[in-house]
Parts: sequence; structure tokens; C-alpha cells
Amino acid sequence: MAAFDLMISAEEINSKVKEVAKRISEDYKGESIVVIGVLTGAFIFTSDLVRELDVDVETLDFIQVSSYSGDKSTGNFVFKKDISFDISGKNILLVEDIIDTGRTLKKLCEMLSMRNPKSIKICTAFDKPSRRVTDLVPDYNCFTIPDEFIVGYGLDYDGKYRQFKDVKIVRIKDE
Ligand code: 5GP
Ligand code: MG
Repeated sequence: MAAFDLMISAEEINSKVKEVAKRISEDYKGESIVVIGVLTGAFIFTSDLVRELDVDVETLDFIQVSSYSGDKSTGNFVFKKDISFDISGKNILLVEDIIDTGRTLKKLCEMLSMRNPKSIKICTAFDKPSRRVTDLVPDYNCFTIPDEFIVGYGLDYDGKYRQFKDVKIVRIKDE
């Protein structure tokens, strides 16, 4: 059985996304960008964010990488879904749901850098800096959160709860 505690309301998320989108739009003034959302968790954040951007979005697509368990890291990094266009010379805005250890995005940035984009920036909805094992720092972050497991706003527990409008801490109890 799962129990939930509210962490961040839909209203708070909504106004923070607008604020971050404004900063991004100012930073990229006069430039165009390619938005790449990281599936599956970032699907809601990506769609909310792009609709608030006041900047030329050349293309929007999603990418999906294998998730790794425990400390088994970089060796078995696989694209489950890659993008199909050339990103050389482009400004890439990578949109992620949450940064935890930072391994996923660190590796993803390394892989995308090899394709010679003009720039890569990271925008995340949530950040858990206390869990970091890499030097990864997002360029844009909506909420810094404590070391709790959250669901909602695209984030799941075992495939569930992605559709929650609010972000909640999930506590799994034995029957
Ligand atoms: P990392 O930064 O450790 O490489 O991995 C980040 C990924 O771990 C996220 O994209 C997400 O899939 C998962 N993750 C980390 N913390 C949480 C959390 O609190 N809730 C959920 N649902 N997923 C999380
Ligand atoms: Mg993710």
C-alpha cells in the first residue's frame, strides 16, 4: 500500500515553470534552440516548459536512455530512443525530470557533446544535490528538494503515479 505526502503543489510548479521559462528566454535572446526532453519522466515538464518559452524552438524531440541500477554505471549506457537529426552547431536545451546522482545526465551530455553542438544546457524540474556523485550542476532548476522519493508531474514509482498534478513523497507500506 502506498501513502503520499504533498511536497509541491501544481500551483507552485506552474508559477515556477513560468519563472524559469522567462530566464531561459532571456538567456537565449536572438538565438534558436533545440529542446530535447529525457523520457519518460520529463514528458510533462517538457510540454509545460516549451509552451512558456519566448524563444525560437527549432525542433523539439525526446531521447531515452537506459537506466542503470546501483553503482553499475557508464559502461552499459544505451540509447533506447535516440534523436534522428544532426545537432552540430545547435543550442541544445536538455530537459530532465529530476537529477539525483547526476550519472544519467553526465553521460548523456558527454555523448551529445561528441556530436559538436554549439552549446548544451540542462533544465531540470527537480534537483536532489545531496545525492550527487558527479560534478553535474543544472543550468536551470525549478526546485531543490531533500533526499525523498517523489512521484507525480511525470515521475513514477514502478510505472505509476506519473499523472498526479502535485508532487508527492511516496511511502510504500507493507500490507
Ligand atoms: P541519476 O541522476 O541518478 O542518474 O538519475 C536520475 C533518474 O533517477 C531520474 O531521471 C529518475 O528517473 C530517477 N529518480 C531519481 N530520483 C527520483 C525520485 O525521487 N523519484 C522518481 N520517480 N524518480 C527518481
Ligand atoms: Mg529522468
